[in-house]
Amino acid sequence: MAESEVKPVYSISDFEHAYQEDGKLVGQECHACHHRIATQVLRCPKCGSPKLSAVDLATTGTVRSFSIQNVPSDEFLNDAPYAYALIELADKAVVSGWLPEAKSEKDISIGDKVQWKKSYKVGMIFEKVR
Ligand SMILES: [Zn+2]
Repeated sequence: MAESEVKPVYSISDFEHAYQEDGKLVGQECHACHHRIATQVLRCPKCGSPKLSAVDLATTGTVRSFSIQNVPSDEFLNDAPYAYALIELADKAVVSGWLPEAKSEKDISIGDKVQWKKSYKVGMIFEKVR
């Protein structure tokens, strides 16, 4: 696993896209407790340590929870309905993301295997592994 120093995040745009570089999901791992997170932070949310390194996160995972969004915010108006899901990645990092193809409860289940999909849209987009 490649480790490098994480550059500080300064703008909302930097923050929103920090996890997506060169087709990879880039997160952070805490040196003290090895907790992995997808969002860029200055301290580990679990133990408070400031020693964090950039890591490539797994791009496949499992749906742990979801809800179908029928009344979305402006950025997602053309995509509704869609599923907003809590996904446990294969390396145990837990992220939230959305599945545009899941239009109702019939299209998604807890335990479904999903794959992250690079996109120009905001948020982490996942699709079911078939
Ligand atoms: Zn920690």
